[in-house]
Amino acid sequence: MQTTPQTKETSDQALVIGAGLGGLAAAMRLGAKGYRVTVLDRLDRPGGRGSSITQDGHRFDLGPTIVTVPAVFENLWTACGREFSKDVDLRPLDPFYEVRWPDGSRFRASHDMEAEVERLSPRDIEGFRKFLKDAKRRYVVGFEGMVAKPMNRLSDTIRVLPEFARLRADKSILGLVRSRVRDERLRMALSFHPLFIGGDPRHVTSMYGLVSHLEMMFGVHYAMGGVQAIADAMVKVIQSQGGELRLGVEADEILVENSSVRGVRLKDGEMLASRLVISNADAGHTYDRLLKKTKKRRWTPEKLKRQRWSMGLFVWYFGTKNSRALWQDVGHHTIVNGPRYEGLLKDVFITGRLANDMSLYLHRPSITDPSVAPAGDDTFYALSPVPNLAHKDSVDWEIKLEAYKSKVAAELEKIIPGFQDRLSTDLVFTPQDFKDRYLSPHGCGFSIEPRILQSAWFRPHNLSEEARGLYLVGAGTHPGAGLPGVVSSAEIVANLIPDANVQLDTPRMAAE
Ligand SMILES: Cc1cc2nc3c(=O)[nH]c(=O)nc-3n(C[C@H](O)[C@H](O)[C@H](O)COP(=O)(O)OP(=O)(O)OC[C@H]3O[C@@H](n4cnc5c(N)ncnc54)[C@H](O)[C@@H]3O)c2cc1C
Repeated sequence: MQTTPQTKETSDQALVIGAGLGGLAAAMRLGAKGYRVTVLDRLDRPGGRGSSITQDGHRFDLGPTIVTVPAVFENLWTACGREFSKDVDLRPLDPFYEVRWPDGSRFRASHDMEAEVERLSPRDIEGFRKFLKDAKRRYVVGFEGMVAKPMNRLSDTIRVLPEFARLRADKSILGLVRSRVRDERLRMALSFHPLFIGGDPRHVTSMYGLVSHLEMMFGVHYAMGGVQAIADAMVKVIQSQGGELRLGVEADEILVENSSVRGVRLKDGEMLASRLVISNADAGHTYDRLLKKTKKRRWTPEKLKRQRWSMGLFVWYFGTKNSRALWQDVGHHTIVNGPRYEGLLKDVFITGRLANDMSLYLHRPSITDPSVAPAGDDTFYALSPVPNLAHKDSVDWEIKLEAYKSKVAAELEKIIPGFQDRLSTDLVFTPQDFKDRYLSPHGCGFSIEPRILQSAWFRPHNLSEEARGLYLVGAGTHPGAGLPGVVSSAEIVANLIPDANVQLDTPRMAAE
């Protein structure tokens, strides 16, 4: 078999494996630094988990629906000499979302959350105010101080330890909330956010309280055209910089010689030369599969197996006919709790049992964006967190899919009664689809779980220690999953790489 790359290597060339939001952001930043970037993705469109599928006139935004920190995108565009608001139409939502419980009570999150706390549980108002202060302090240390900073040296993490100790980062977010408010519903409403980046609120660090501050400060936004519109706009910037996006191509191996990256071999055998490779494929996939022939210093298969991985997701995308005037109390984002919170988390994250009860996140973008559905119709997705495929005796979704879908339908009937009679089209993703489509280890939704000992230096580094010239962006590296996280990981990577015209002879590797 041929081992030398077929393309000629030049010092201003960079390859990005994966056109997820992290990969595209990295390509934009490297383009701005003078590199000629080629982005490779196995899918037929850019965006990764943030891509969409259009079926029977309905656009299904497959993954992210909430944009919390527009500044990360604005800064990215500015770094490329452009203006984000000229390319993407971002709309603030009010309320941000609604949370519901089986007893019929509801909580509307908005800029005026205090009024809702007063209504739901007046005795908790003081505790809520304290929690908001907790959230702000965590934002200053955890977001402003760490999110866009590399954590590939242990000393970077050691430096923040005194602050972490002061803020009781060893406490879980649920533990922190529990110490501040007594109402069980409020405890859920103030602690569930890590689920959106794949973490169990009973175990992820209280530093994630910062998300409540982010929401209050910057609001919750929706990109018209879905996150797909952001991904498409990113591709246009990359192309305007002279970069290229190649879709429908799968990287099979990152080529390494004398501990330095030499390029990428595609599944069809084509070899691409580059001394700079940025992998936006999952960190687990990158180390286990793409670097399969390289002896690992740190990210051995055994170490990867020992990681705690984020949960899986069951997502039912569906369209309903002539329904836009119905279900008036169902807004753009609704979180519908089942009877259990902590017990269900335990089943999803620890025991790996597919429970009979569930909590759902219901997305109804047609409230905000008429382009998602034919006139008068609705586009929805209902998401249920489920165990990933790493658990012993994990769920066989080929067998369980229909029965589970019926259970989800029964829950949805309580929120959007009669929806099954109006179904016009649908599509289901299970953890198996996440494994097959995104090459996500164990079919998980958000890569490695963001527990404290799997964060910062403990997470796979942005600057790889396994090969010179290899960098990681995206959910599995620092700072972690979620749009602000993966876009920030690209900023970190770009800051670690010199401009194209001053490229080092030998790119660095972590721990050198
Ligand atoms: C259902 C769902 C809802 C979410 N909701 C939100 C939300 O509301 N707000 C928020 O901020 N975040 C949300 N998230 C999280 C967020 O979407 C992700 O963390 C983020 O999009 C991941 O981006 P990434 O850069 O890691 O790349 P990914 O999106 O994981 O993309 C990686 C890309 O790499 C490609 N790839 C992998 N291996 C190869 C290979 N060998 N060769 C070629 N291509 C390869 C894949 O095809 C994929 O396109 C959600 C996630 C999901 C799944």
